Amino acid sequence: MLRIGFGYDVHRLVEGRPLILGGGEIPHDVGLEGHSDADVLIHAVIDAVTGALGMGDIGLHFPDTDPAYKGADSFSMLGQVTAWMKRDGFRLNNLDTTIVAERPKLAPYLTGMRERLAGVFNTDINRINIKATSTERMGFCGRGEGMEAFAVISIVSE
Ligand code: MG
Repeated sequence: MLRIGFGYDVHRLVEGRPLILGGGEIPHDVGLEGHSDADVLIHAVIDAVTGALGMGDIGLHFPDTDPAYKGADSFSMLGQVTAWMKRDGFRLNNLDTTIVAERPKLAPYLTGMRERLAGVFNTDINRINIKATSTERMGFCGRGEGMEAFAVISIVSE
């Protein structure tokens, strides 16, 4: 059985926060704001997985009103979600994502993100794709007010 899931997320960029993206820290002058570490890519991936499993969204399982998730490591939340996938008898077929950010240039960091995602999904790196784009300085991402991320996942029964 094949299932498809889609995820989308957006976070504001603010001063005084580290930029956590794709499970790692990227040197930058601003960072993503949120209750957790605000890793916008990982949040989109979590929503894609919960979508494919028919399990609602990230807010249902990791509520931003819960003090337990204040400053939470989103990558470990993804680890929990991939454990639910395995429990339900699914493995990743492929994951494709896009990060929308005006700055910084993300190309040097994409391989590291793919390696981390391949690790948490226990799969080959060639099943994980991460793209990054700017919006030609238009819109909230283009003005550097925030970043957004999209994720599409296909999962198959063992
Ligand atoms: Mg989020």
